[in-house]
Formats: sequence, C-alpha cells, structure tokens
Amino acid sequence: MISDDDIQRVRQATNIVDLVSETVVLKQRGQEFWGCCPFHNEKTPSFHVNPATGLWHCFGACQEGGDAISYIRKRDNLEFADAVRALADKAGIEISEDAARGPRGPRRNRLIEALVEAERFYHVQLMRGKSHGAASARSYLSSRGFGSEICRRWCLGYAPGRGALVAHLRGKGFSAAELHAANLSVDRSGRTSDRFYERVMFPIHDEQGRAIAFGGRVLGKGEPKYLNSSETPVFHKSKNLYALDRAKDRITATATAILCEGYTDVIALHEAGFANAVAALGTALTLDHIRMLSRYRVREIICLFDGDAAGQRAAERTVQYIDKTEADLRCVVLPDGQDPAEFLGSHSPSELQAQLDSARSLVDFVIEARLDKYDLSTPGRRVKALDDVAEVLAPLKRSVLIDELATKVAYRLPGIEATAVKTAVRDKAVPRAADALLREKPDRIPAADPAPSFDSLSVSERRQLKLEREVLSLVARYPDELRSSAPRMTSIIWADARHEAMLWAMLSTPEKTAPKDAVAAALSVEPQAARILSAGEAVSSPSEAAQRAASLLDALELSSDKRRLKEVRGKLHGSSALGDAELTALFEEATRLQKRINELSELISRASIR
Ligand SMILES: [Zn+2]
Repeated sequence: MISDDDIQRVRQATNIVDLVSETVVLKQRGQEFWGCCPFHNEKTPSFHVNPATGLWHCFGACQEGGDAISYIRKRDNLEFADAVRALADKAGIEISEDAARGPRGPRRNRLIEALVEAERFYHVQLMRGKSHGAASARSYLSSRGFGSEICRRWCLGYAPGRGALVAHLRGKGFSAAELHAANLSVDRSGRTSDRFYERVMFPIHDEQGRAIAFGGRVLGKGEPKYLNSSETPVFHKSKNLYALDRAKDRITATATAILCEGYTDVIALHEAGFANAVAALGTALTLDHIRMLSRYRVREIICLFDGDAAGQRAAERTVQYIDKTEADLRCVVLPDGQDPAEFLGSHSPSELQAQLDSARSLVDFVIEARLDKYDLSTPGRRVKALDDVAEVLAPLKRSVLIDELATKVAYRLPGIEATAVKTAVRDKAVPRAADALLREKPDRIPAADPAPSFDSLSVSERRQLKLEREVLSLVARYPDELRSSAPRMTSIIWADARHEAMLWAMLSTPEKTAPKDAVAAALSVEPQAARILSAGEAVSSPSEAAQRAASLLDALELSSDKRRLKEVRGKLHGSSALGDAELTALFEEATRLQKRINELSELISRASIR
C-alpha cells in the first residue's frame, strides 16, 4: 500500500508540463499549455495542460482529463500504484512502501546510486586503466571503430573483476546487501566478489538517463559472450530498451524507431546519425517494448535484423505484435549477413538510409522467407509450404488481420483458397508465450475512470453540472482570488453533492493557497476531483477569472432559483393541508424567487448582448 501522504507528495513534485512534454509538443498560451492530444489522432491542438493545478484535459474527441497520475496511467497503461511509483521514480521521491521494505531489500534510490557509481568506476578503468585487460578492452573497442570520444559519450567501461568494484563501492559506503541487490556483486564460495569480470561494459540507462544495469562483453573467447545484469528492483529487461534515453527525442521527431539487436549496433547507428535506434536487451522483443515505443507516437518501427538464421527467427517472433500497435512494423535484412555495425564499417550512412527506405512489411517478409524454401510448382509441395507458413501466422489466428494475411498467402499458392489458409492457421498450435498475447485485446488502453452517467441527464441538468464544474475549476486555479465570492457560492443549491463538497474543501484552505494545494484539498474529499476540475475553460488573469466566476454564478443561481421556485409552486398547488402562516411564507418566497429570477435573466441577457 502506498500512503495518501506519499501519493500527495508525488503529485506535488511532478511537473505536469515536463511529463506531458516527454511525448507531446506543447505550446504556451497565457499560463497554460496546448498540444495535440496523445490519446486520439488530431491535427489542431485541443489537449490542455495547466502547470499551476497540475491538471490536463482533452477538449477534443476524448473529453478526458485528470492529474499526473491518471495521465501516466493512461499513457503507459499502468495500474494506479505503478503509476505512482513511476512518478516517484522520476521525481526522485522515496515512497514509504519502499522504505518499509527495509530489512527485505535496500531502497531503489540506493541501488541506482550504486549503479551510477559503478558506471563511473568502470569508465575510469577503461579510459585510464594500466592493466593488460584494460588495454585489450580499449583495443577491442577501437577495432569496432569506437575511439575514446565515443567511449566517453556512451560511458563505456571495463570491469577488471577480482573484487575491485566491490572494494571501491564498499569504500563509498554501500552495503554488501545493496551491491547484491543491484546485481553488482555475487557470492563466490562465501565471499562477496564482482559480478562482472574482465569484460567490456555497456551501461544500460533508464529513460531519465540513469544507469540501472550493465551488459558486459567478454574479452577474447570466453562464454557467455554477453553477460547482462539479472533482473533487479530497478531493471526489467522486458521493460527497458537500450539507448531509449538518447533516442526518444529523435523517435518522437521522426515518428520512426529503428530496432536492432546489439549494443554496438545501436552505438554505431547513433554515431552515423541514426539517433532513433534502440535495442532489446538480451531478450526477444516483447509487447512491453512495443508499447514503450508506441508511447513516443511512432508510426513506423523498422527492425534491423542480422541477416542470419537468428535474424529470421527474430523476425518471425516479432510478427505476433503486428496487430498490437498502431505503428507499421517493417524490417530490413542487411546484405551478406552483416549486422548494422559491420554494414556501417564498409558503407556510408546514406547507403544505410537507402536500406531503411526500402524496408519491407515485416509480415510480408516472414511469409516470403518461409515460402522461398519451397518449389511451389507442384500441388503437393504447395500444401507443405502452406503448413509451414501457417505455423508462423498461428499467433495471429484470432487477429482482425487474419483475412488479409490469408489472402496474401493464398495469392502465392495457386489452387489454395484463402479459407483453406485460415483453416490451416487455426489448426496450428500457438507457442505458449504468444498464447498469452492472444487473450489480450488489441487495444489495451483502458478508459481511465468510469465516465459519469452524463448521458442519462436532461439538457438543463447537464448544463447545470457543466456550469458547476466551470466554477470549481476557476476556484482551483484562483483559490485566493475567488475566496471573496464564497458566501454567494455556498448559498446556491448545487445539483451535484460531490461538487459542493469539493467547493467547501477548496474554500476552507488557508490564505495564500497554491492551485495545486486547492486541487489536493478537493481530492481529499472526492477521488474523481482531478477529472472534474480539469475541464475548465482557459482564463488569462485573476480579474478575468473573478469576472467569469460572477457570470457563471449568475447562471447557476438562476437555475438554482428556478428549481426552488418549481418546488415552492408544487407545494402551493399540491397541498390543501397547509396552514395560513405556511401559505403566506411560501407565497412570499415564490414572489421573492420570481423577482430574483427576473433580475438574473435580465442581467444574463444583457451580458450576452454585450
Ligand atoms: Zn483527446
């Protein structure tokens, strides 16, 4: 459980403009920011962010809104608690849930501090180490075309092993438990020793650019060739992509991501000007990876596979994701079995660009590659080919794309109908990992919160609720300036009791309350407050806000009075059992209300003419 205090601290510490700007280009207008909505496709900006209240709202198709937590939930498809953790992480806040973990494991921030210090240590060893190992690490890297400038830019390192790192970090005050939890050390026959031994080190960073893990390449012939950090509290290989921290800006700018297989490929690509390249970390591409890239609004993901059998298998595994992303999955297989780093060693960047420009649809590539193994001139061999290609398409058997794919395959296999292709695909067993995916809906972004049952209301009720929300959102943005209207606001009969509770909560904050604190006060009485408060129209100054609030209150008071008048008249007509005094009182109230209604109507119509 995360405490309310921590949730509140995370909200306070999060800059909503920075958060949204990670993937959306925002333009400032007055004190507010506008951009194109990341949750629906649009060309004119209707997505609004208010740094003072920390709220966002889409005035376009979605009509959704809320605070930083609901934003990152929707964007990154997270559960509430994970969203709070993600924001805490970004803001460098230690939440007590972590602190409470005390005896069971060190805090996340300590692990990252240790990893960052290890990165520095390894880097110094590479750049200045006098040992034979350090020299061979340098010569390995320079043989791959990575001179000292590139080593510096990518913080590459050398791990000497033999307890050197453990000694260094213990000297800096890190405990054995912390080093162990960060997977920087291992126990070898009862002694704590370095996890990485005589390896070239590639630090892996999170999206904020902090070291969270390492990939170590062996020098010479040892096994394994690459050794990666194990999963730790701060590193999940299925949820991190190598170099995403450096690539994310270019990915957003070009709407294209290049996905390759190795660390050296990524570095070579970036150094050649392809700064939108990333790599999966010692694992096949996962759905989480695809989603991470989708977050940066990619329209195209180009997979650069090595031109060997492993590359072919990787392409086949990736096909299962084609209907899980809006991005177009394409692939390039470089000639002569070269990997991207090798290709760039003997070709110019423009030659690589030409390869990327001719990237083929991933699914076409996979189908072709399977069919190419067969002589399709005889019916018997065509049936065998069908059986083979059905195997790679099996994970897509329930996809909306299956008809299109079946037609494609049938076209290549004369005499075989699309329906026969579909049957063959359906009859194939699905590999287990892919099977789990089948059960997921293609569009996984859940509706953030249940929408209020607005549709069941009458036009005037809806109008009333909308006016109330407008007033509340003004109070949230200008709590101090609107305090003087408190008596009027509280005299009105509010149609939605939640609104009234939020109003009281915001108005009972002390003088000099910041908008964020007003929102927090509203949230303390109504969990949906962020969503309710986010939709207010933009105002440019406190005086404009006061003016707008006054006219909104006129309209609210008018409908509140009208409702009350209806009630009073109902009582007058409906009951003969009323005493004289009561009747007189009701008549007087009706007259007073009618008079006030006339005044307000007049006021409102004059304001609308003006
Ligand atoms: Zn939208």
